[in-house]
Amino acid sequence: MKKLIENILQLENISNELEPSQEQRNQYLDKIRNYSNEFLNTLDSKKTFNNSIQESDRFKITGDKISIEQIIDIYKEEVVEKGIIASSGGHLGYVPGGGIYTSAISDFIADITNEYSGMFYASPGAVTLENELINWMKKIFHYPDSAIGNLASGGSIANLIALTSARDKHKIKGDKIKNSVIYLSPQVHHCIKKALRIIGLEDTIIHYLKLDDHSKIDTKNLELQIDLDTKNGLAPFMVIASAGTTDTGAVDPLYEIGKIAQKMKLWYHIDAAYGGFFILTESKKHLFKGIELSDSLVVDPHKGLFLPYGIGAVLVKDKEAVYQSHHYTANYMQDAIGHNLPINPADVSPELTKHFRGLRMWIPLQLHGTKPFTACLDEKLLLTKYFRSAIKKKGFIIGSEPDLSISYFWFPSNNIDPNVFNKKLLEFMHQDGRVFFSSTIINEKFVIRIAILSFRTKLKIIDKSIEMIDECLTKTNAFFDNI
Ligand SMILES: *Cc1c(COP(=O)(O)O)cnc(C)c1O
Repeated sequence: MKKLIENILQLENISNELEPSQEQRNQYLDKIRNYSNEFLNTLDSKKTFNNSIQESDRFKITGDKISIEQIIDIYKEEVVEKGIIASSGGHLGYVPGGGIYTSAISDFIADITNEYSGMFYASPGAVTLENELINWMKKIFHYPDSAIGNLASGGSIANLIALTSARDKHKIKGDKIKNSVIYLSPQVHHCIKKALRIIGLEDTIIHYLKLDDHSKIDTKNLELQIDLDTKNGLAPFMVIASAGTTDTGAVDPLYEIGKIAQKMKLWYHIDAAYGGFFILTESKKHLFKGIELSDSLVVDPHKGLFLPYGIGAVLVKDKEAVYQSHHYTANYMQDAIGHNLPINPADVSPELTKHFRGLRMWIPLQLHGTKPFTACLDEKLLLTKYFRSAIKKKGFIIGSEPDLSISYFWFPSNNIDPNVFNKKLLEFMHQDGRVFFSSTIINEKFVIRIAILSFRTKLKIIDKSIEMIDECLTKTNAFFDNI
């Protein structure tokens, strides 16, 4: 016994390293605070994109200790200063994320207290808080009180949860798979197709719908397709619309699609990962009419609410459909089973143990109120307008009037194939890196794409981007003149 105690105490001596003293904690926090302040204070003067394809060997884990100063140096030089600085207001490519400060400090508290937010029994407070966020979103999107939801890691998993519910509700399995039809836009986010594969629906019949001139689902075509398929003995079962496509930010005609889905008894899913929170703005809320007709809905707070990466949300009207796949009981969980207890996040998601991600959304909403979030979305819409008008003045062709804050443009080069010219132009823009743009293909044309959604994108950054494009245009012209 004495020997045993000695051994335990010896080990305790070593393992105590994992519980820093208050003094050490303060030292860590000072260093981290200094670094984060330096980072934020110099963010605007830094490049947004540092083109680098080298893998660093400085991450090696040797088992020995290194100091916090060394760690911050490695982080800064090898992580932050390479690739796209996603937290920069100059991030205008893909769909920019957020990274608001008050969310970061919320994560800190969530991690310190390490709440177990999967089960009501384990943390009634954490689960109630997360359920309240779901309730808040149900109100925003006019979902009934009886709907349920989940805070997932992002839009991809949120979509997976929704599509699984659709599958289970309509019992699409076995022989039914081959005969069932899913309707979607060719502009749907690729995570939808990935989810369909994961949940065993890749062998359903997937019909890509015709789009109108504004890249939106043509509802006449949808009706025709459903009629035709029904006549041919197939079983239409789900239609998927987007409220803000990734390519052009187009919002599908949600109401019309909803009416068709109702009439034909289809599961109606809407992917609003990027666009959903624009429903909060006066100027755009009309585009979301009919969103309440959907059976399931995905929206990404790490996009439209400017939170740091790691939170997407799903709402589903049919609770049983969600439970079918995710609600599980096991002997070792018997203490956690109670009747009429609030929804457990673990019963609505493939995740059991998970990060207490609700706190990073709840604290900012409470601390700031919702007004600055809405103002920020309105600001992004006006900046999009401003950018389009400024770039047009420089001789660029701009895409048709965007629904939200994604648009595209290209330079109509005379002697050089515009696809070749604009690709080169984007290359120069990436080399420059002051702000970051991405590209896409629209009607077989290579176009440069702008997506304004970072809360840090401000008027002066848009001005900087115009200046940069102008300079890169000069370089591109010179490049082709010299060939
Ligand atoms: C970003 C996005 C997704 C994927 O969400 P993640 O959070 O990246 O997993 C899905 N659909 C749309 C429309 C998106 O913009």
